[in-house]
Amino acid sequence: MNETDLQAVKDYLLNQKSSILNKNSEFISEQVSHSQAIPDEAEAAAIDASTALSIRLMERDRNSLLLIERALGKIVDGSYGKCELCEQTIDAKRLMVRPFTTFCIDCMEEIESQKKSN
Ligand SMILES: [Zn+2]
Repeated sequence: MNETDLQAVKDYLLNQKSSILNKNSEFISEQVSHSQAIPDEAEAAAIDASTALSIRLMERDRNSLLLIERALGKIVDGSYGKCELCEQTIDAKRLMVRPFTTFCIDCMEEIESQKKSN
């Protein structure tokens, strides 16, 4: 992966990171305003459901943040774009489509076929 590609991936990761962080701070301020009102039962149930959904989303976001941090760390230490199994360079096009991927296509296929046989 060349410098330009790497910079593009880095920008993308930083963008993703800040959009997740912004979204979650909006969510938290929303929760604060909800708790100040005294809702009737139906409204309370609706809020519970949306809170449960938001918490699930937050968990997904937390996982995404972990992946983002991991990828950013790899960019910093120079190991980004290398397969974690065979240490081959991962195709730049593949990384542009799936910036969090840590395996080359060959190893990924290997892993997938092992999953299927289990
Ligand atoms: Zn590999």
